Amino acid sequence: MTAKSLFSVGFGEFQKTLADLGMPAFRAKQVQEWIFRKFVFSFDEMTNLSLADREKLKAAFPKILPPVEKYLQDRDGTSKVVVKLGDDELVEAVAIPDEDSLTFCLSTQVGCPVGCVFCRTGEMGFKRNLSSDEIMLQVMLLVKRTGKKPTNIVFMGMGEPFLNRKALYEAIDMLTDPQGLGLATRRITISTSGVVEGIAELISRPGEVNLAVSLHVADNATRNTLVPINKKFPLEKLKEAISSYCTHTSRRVTLEVVLLKNVNDQLQDAMNLVSFCEGLLVHVNIVRFNHFPGSNYEPSPEKDEKEFRKILKKAGIAVTVRKSRGQEILAACGQLAGKSDDQEKK
Ligand code: SAH
Ligand code: SF4
Repeated sequence: MTAKSLFSVGFGEFQKTLADLGMPAFRAKQVQEWIFRKFVFSFDEMTNLSLADREKLKAAFPKILPPVEKYLQDRDGTSKVVVKLGDDELVEAVAIPDEDSLTFCLSTQVGCPVGCVFCRTGEMGFKRNLSSDEIMLQVMLLVKRTGKKPTNIVFMGMGEPFLNRKALYEAIDMLTDPQGLGLATRRITISTSGVVEGIAELISRPGEVNLAVSLHVADNATRNTLVPINKKFPLEKLKEAISSYCTHTSRRVTLEVVLLKNVNDQLQDAMNLVSFCEGLLVHVNIVRFNHFPGSNYEPSPEKDEKEFRKILKKAGIAVTVRKSRGQEILAACGQLAGKSDDQEKK
């Protein structure tokens, strides 16, 4: 059995333990400051705590961060951490360095209940929601690994963030807390498969969190098969929600489109997408399909992708193509599955 770690029991439980040990309530705050502001992960180094308290804390929580199942490093600089949670479930988070940014891609669930047919996480089914401490654990493991604070956070790892909103917003509060990492909300992006009620709730929250919607295709029949949650939140409702977000926030929404060969990469698909974008403040991000073992789908051929982009551009829609990062270590979008046997490539 692995030694109890602070992050695997969570800060709520930690505070209770401190009270049981007869420590004042502000001790917990001091410990949090060491961890989230100074990136110190050992009680021995928390020098404003008395020696006696440090010993008591070490006895109660032999580790601050739980052991990492695996670190994988791609040749392109991307690193992925596979974390073993308190109940032995595995979850993944990815750090993507760029010229002057460092983006952490975080998971919100173990598996995912949405079950998109082209997604490795969807294929594994849904195990459970993560707690906010388990989301922050991913952040701190990546901080420890990279030695740096992230410049951007994207909720684009395993799971559907809007199906775990309580923990999602608690984690966002911790990320933006000036006493913690102090990130600006506009540095944070939530990616959703189209949970309309989640978009509505985001609008009502303070801050400038960015929204990305994994649209993929703009006709209900095809989207029902690719992204099954479309049956619950069809395109008409989704468009309304996106429109409302744009109106309320004046922020541009990213529509993500994974192009799959002969599935959603044809002329009619591009035209449907153009109609969907009409009247919306959006930008389309074409994502190359990342293949994973056992998938029946294939990426759209380059010439079809080019043609697809041309149609969007001609209609005046801003289009980008997302660089795929961390593909070799299965750290790219849709390749995360919480498996410890993914190969490390040096
Ligand atoms: N559940 C949320 C966020 C996690 S998925 C969502 O679906 O938006 C993050 C992104 O990866 C989504 O845009 C998703 O559509 C995309 N994705 C899933 N499987 C993929 C694959 N095999 N190749 C490329 N992108 C994929
Ligand atoms: Fe879930 Fe997103 Fe994967 Fe769909 S693409 S199964 S919503 S993680």
